[in-house]
Amino acid sequence: DEPLATFDPDVHAAITAELARQQGTLELIASENFAPVSVMQAQGSVLTNKYAEGYPGRRYYGGCEHVDVVERLAIERVTALFGAEAANVQPHSGAQANAAAMSALLDPGDTILGLDLAHGGHLTHGMRLNFSGKLYNVVVYHVDPDDFRVDMAEVERLAVEHRPKLIVAGWSAYPRHLDFAEFRRIADLVGAHLMVDMAHFAGLVAAGLHPNPVPHAHVVTTTTHKTLGGPRGGVIMSTADLAKKLNSAVFPGQQGGPLEHVVAAKAVGFKLAGSPEFRERQERTLEGARILAAALGSDRVRDAGVSVLTGGTDVHLVLVDLRDSELDGKQAEDLLHSMGLTVNRNAVPFDPRPPMVTSGLRIGTPALATRGFAAEEFTEVGEIIATALSSTPSEELSAQLRSRVASLAARVPLYPGLS
Ligand code: PLP
Repeated sequence: DEPLATFDPDVHAAITAELARQQGTLELIASENFAPVSVMQAQGSVLTNKYAEGYPGRRYYGGCEHVDVVERLAIERVTALFGAEAANVQPHSGAQANAAAMSALLDPGDTILGLDLAHGGHLTHGMRLNFSGKLYNVVVYHVDPDDFRVDMAEVERLAVEHRPKLIVAGWSAYPRHLDFAEFRRIADLVGAHLMVDMAHFAGLVAAGLHPNPVPHAHVVTTTTHKTLGGPRGGVIMSTADLAKKLNSAVFPGQQGGPLEHVVAAKAVGFKLAGSPEFRERQERTLEGARILAAALGSDRVRDAGVSVLTGGTDVHLVLVDLRDSELDGKQAEDLLHSMGLTVNRNAVPFDPRPPMVTSGLRIGTPALATRGFAAEEFTEVGEIIATALSSTPSEELSAQLRSRVASLAARVPLYPGLS
């Protein structure tokens, strides 16, 4: 029962260094967030010891009376939060949730229609090397080359031509709302199921600040750690008639024992996501993204070949278009990293540069909003990034911007009680 610091100083040192990195830099990766201490306490609890194959009240192991309470709470809270008829809270991750949902609705060789990875889709929506691309016949839809918005006319045309059994709506890099009602109309037209993967924007939906896909889709999957701000994990929601099929696709179809410590942490995260503070945080998340979009779409940066895809954002992220910039995505990511700003390079649709280099950046605001950033801090972040991406590099400028980043991090501390 020795504490980690003395039993395993190597792992302890790496964790401590990671805490210092999170505290001392500005996290702008759109898929990341900071879980509250209450979530981490649940996740670090003795529930990690318990086997609980099965579902509450129907387990294959004894001693499940307390984990049953936790899993029922998680199910009740997430269904209430999103207005879903049924939920499975056991998927270990978003990818696992999608794998299980697809295996419930499809047979190998069936056709799925999803957004092209290169246009903002996710690996699990049909990428060639992913299970989805290997098991299923994949047809992809795209964004329109003029306005960079999902081309719903193409979705309908491809659906009618290929008669997919499943249409997947959802994205990892797309700055606008999707028209869920229109996706459902097209799914009904060809007799397909509609699955919405709201992993990125679930927190905005929970706060009532983004259209809710639940009333439109047969199945909605999500992660719990992005805008939703809980522990790493996945969830599947569905209409009541599909619940049994989905449950058996998760267990015994894809997974063994559920991670009940993570399920407990999900329950805590869902409680938080129903609170007024959470809504206020999501409002700051959206406001921050709009402020960054304005800074990175200004005339000053346009002269340096930098612009914002679709001209703005409706969500928690901004896609920066560097196709006309001398900086490629990798160079821009490295430049910002050297100043203490963490972002990820991201291919833009119709990207002329290779996928390891790219011509874009994906910049998201959920983590900084959780940290406590509001309009004033986001304005400063926007100015720092705009200056970095549009100026001739110099050591003096870099040092100046690095110190502006450090003072923002000091002004709004993260996890002040932890060290
Ligand atoms: N779905 C979407 C839309 C995502 O963006 C992601 C994560 O990047 C996932 C699923 C996969 O989630 P995980 O990394 O938890 O497997």
